[in-house]
Amino acid sequence: MHQEMDEKAIADLKSQVRGDVIPPGDERYEGARKVYNAMIDKRPAVVIRCTDVADVMAAVRTSRTRGLPVAIRGGGHSVPGFGTADGAVVVDLGRMKGTRVDPLSKTVWAEGGCTWGDFNHATYAFGLATTGGIISTTGIAGLTLGGGIGYLCRGVGLTIDSLISAEVVLADGSFVIASEQHNPDLFWALRGGGGNFGVVTGLQYRLKEVKDIVGGVLFFEVEDAPKVMMTYNKYIADAPRELGAFFAWQIAPPLPFIPKDRHGDIFCAMVLCWSGRPEQANQAFAPLRAAAPVVAEFVGPMPYPTLNSMFDGLVPPGLQHYWKAVYVRDLTEGAIEAHMKFGPKVPAVNSTVHIYPINGAVHDVAPDATAFGHRDAKYATVIAGMWPDPSQNEANIKWVKDFYAALAPYSEKGGYINFAASDDMDRVGANFGKNFGRLRELKTKYDPQNIFRINQNLAPSPR
Ligand SMILES: Cc1cc2nc3c(=O)[nH]c(=O)nc-3n(C[C@H](O)[C@H](O)[C@H](O)COP(=O)(O)OP(=O)(O)OC[C@H]3O[C@@H](n4cnc5c(N)ncnc54)[C@H](O)[C@@H]3O)c2cc1C
Repeated sequence: MHQEMDEKAIADLKSQVRGDVIPPGDERYEGARKVYNAMIDKRPAVVIRCTDVADVMAAVRTSRTRGLPVAIRGGGHSVPGFGTADGAVVVDLGRMKGTRVDPLSKTVWAEGGCTWGDFNHATYAFGLATTGGIISTTGIAGLTLGGGIGYLCRGVGLTIDSLISAEVVLADGSFVIASEQHNPDLFWALRGGGGNFGVVTGLQYRLKEVKDIVGGVLFFEVEDAPKVMMTYNKYIADAPRELGAFFAWQIAPPLPFIPKDRHGDIFCAMVLCWSGRPEQANQAFAPLRAAAPVVAEFVGPMPYPTLNSMFDGLVPPGLQHYWKAVYVRDLTEGAIEAHMKFGPKVPAVNSTVHIYPINGAVHDVAPDATAFGHRDAKYATVIAGMWPDPSQNEANIKWVKDFYAALAPYSEKGGYINFAASDDMDRVGANFGKNFGRLRELKTKYDPQNIFRINQNLAPSPR
């Protein structure tokens, strides 16, 4: 029996909130309870589409007094569906999309409901950017708080490495700023600790001068994948930091640059982003291009936000999602063999496996300087099962699990918290890695009742 709020409680909330308060029975409820992963079918006690910080404070205070958990929704992309939950108060920030770029200090302030599309749109106008997600519809807040991996990582660091401050509504409903100067312990915890510490209503980032990049994708035959992976592994170790590049398994979509008779075939691919001087791009790509004959390619100069939305069409809302994640120190022979066993069996055009590099500038930051616990890894690998037809769930989930099991002996115990599945909760300690102990202490300080528990949860220590 899921908890519901009585009429008086809903009326009280409505009197305090300017946004939409949507309880079960409201005609908007069916739409409001859903998230991006269509596999998630939860019935929250109420969904609150907040319009400002005051709404968020009222929502959190109500959750606390009623003893209900808060499910925080930024962009709604969490694969385990953490943006909704049975009996929870959903704090939906989707209407809070304000941005303000300061071109003098090269910084941006953005509200917690922005997506990377919103963010990149605002900063591109000033020729500025930072590390963000490779799909434009992902939320900036969820992605940032888990660490933040993207094309610019090797040059700029994780997204958290650009974070200057965060505005947070804590479990008691109060509002604080977290930065190096204010509440530095909270600021440390937010940079990798996920949504465990409060609702982040605004984030301020340092930006770099990045406007147009040279990028795109190279497709290679499956049998050349070991050569491509080995070349990638060697080259990315100390390639110029302006190079963002990741290996992928991908079924060829019906796109004009791919020969028609190869649509639907499985390939391995290198996805490229060169943010240095455009005339140096070919030289930077040359070692990867020379790894094996390129079957099809789409590479050229383009605005940075264009690359960050290039693959949006492959992952529309409403797909079924089941993902697993591992951190990897090196692409060993064993790991490549495991990839060769399951990569060529990728079951759907929407599904993929990405091996993202997290070296370069990510390794310049000390492993304990932020809560992100896996800076010693070279790669974050995601096995992203995504498919449209729920009748295919079993086969697709099996592919992800089998792939994961095959990679496990060659991987770290933990995986990136933002890529992990909800049945990975026994791995939370390993996912947070070396910083798990301090994170739990801070969770006990900031959210002793664990009202923010719909996440990769750091259960507070019992008092
Ligand atoms: C298609 C797709 C592409 C992706 N690409 C990338 C990528 O390139 N790089 C990468 O690093 N990750 C990527 N991810 C993973 C992504 O980082 C996580 O799914 C992340 O949780 C998404 O954030 P969101 O705000 O959209 O999610 P939501 O579902 O809205 O939130 C998920 C959780 O994040 C926390 N959270 C969200 N907003 C807030 C907030 N304002 N305050 C406090 N906590 C909050 C909460 O715990 C919340 O439950 C991708 C995911 C998908 C589905």
